[in-house]
Amino acid sequence: MKRSPDLAPLWRNAQFHAPTLPATDFSADDRQVLEEAGLLRDAGVGAFARCPHCPDAAAGPVEHETLPDGSTRHFVLCAECGFVILRREHFSGCAPAYGGIVRRLSDALGMARPAEEIEPSLLWKMGQAGFDGKTRHVWAGRALEQIPEAKRPEAGVLFTMGFVPESLLHRDIIRVPVEDVCFWDQGLQIDAILCEAAVAASAVLSEGPKRKAPSKRAGRINLIARLTRYIQNHIRSQQKWGLECFKSNTLWKLAPLPGYRVLAGLFDTSISNLSKAFNDKDAKMLVFVRGIAEDEEKVLDYRG
Ligand SMILES: [Zn+2]
Repeated sequence: MKRSPDLAPLWRNAQFHAPTLPATDFSADDRQVLEEAGLLRDAGVGAFARCPHCPDAAAGPVEHETLPDGSTRHFVLCAECGFVILRREHFSGCAPAYGGIVRRLSDALGMARPAEEIEPSLLWKMGQAGFDGKTRHVWAGRALEQIPEAKRPEAGVLFTMGFVPESLLHRDIIRVPVEDVCFWDQGLQIDAILCEAAVAASAVLSEGPKRKAPSKRAGRINLIARLTRYIQNHIRSQQKWGLECFKSNTLWKLAPLPGYRVLAGLFDTSISNLSKAFNDKDAKMLVFVRGIAEDEEKVLDYRG
């Protein structure tokens, strides 16, 4: 099985205007997979590099020296190691392509038109979509403090990438972190059900309880989202436990997910409702995480 790439550097840097990351922030495999997926691009050669042996050391200028045979060697002077020869990936950079994420989001939400870039690589107007019976304007954005206030969305749903301070958001904005609604399965997948559940949950907070009783469908969506979160947490705790066992050289055995009867009690629902949730056509992410939770190797590799 091919491991899913680590997406954390993409989210961590989303709050910066035009982030360029050292190529060494990614493994060579991850870089290739992310580049092929259109989520990362080569940003050329940088002038500074960190010593490859001392990742915590400060970056120094990259020196270039032409050798008698005409080839060039590149090096950096490290306070710990002294003269250190660099390979190209040590001082080349790559840039996250956040537009690639917005395109997938747009597909997942079934938007009629491609998103319109309001501020290059920072803010996209995605169109309108129905959430829980209400049509809302949908936006995607990051690094909002870099966008003039007049341009920032005032109402609707804003899918955010990376950290966005609440103080920059208008009162009527429903914020959904993209990180919370995506997963990697042969590519970056965005789960529409989780988007819908997150919007519904934030909408209740900002608008107060609705007069109308929630529809049957809304109840199902809510159950799928809660089950997905529950299984994700189960995977994370098992992964933590597994890694601790490896460190201390003790035997580890993956704890299975509770059966339907226990889950039904936990989620205050019937076994038939549970089974309908797992078999729902929109329970893609739920079924995906359940598959991971049943496999020791996949649990240890999980990056969500
Ligand atoms: Zn060093």
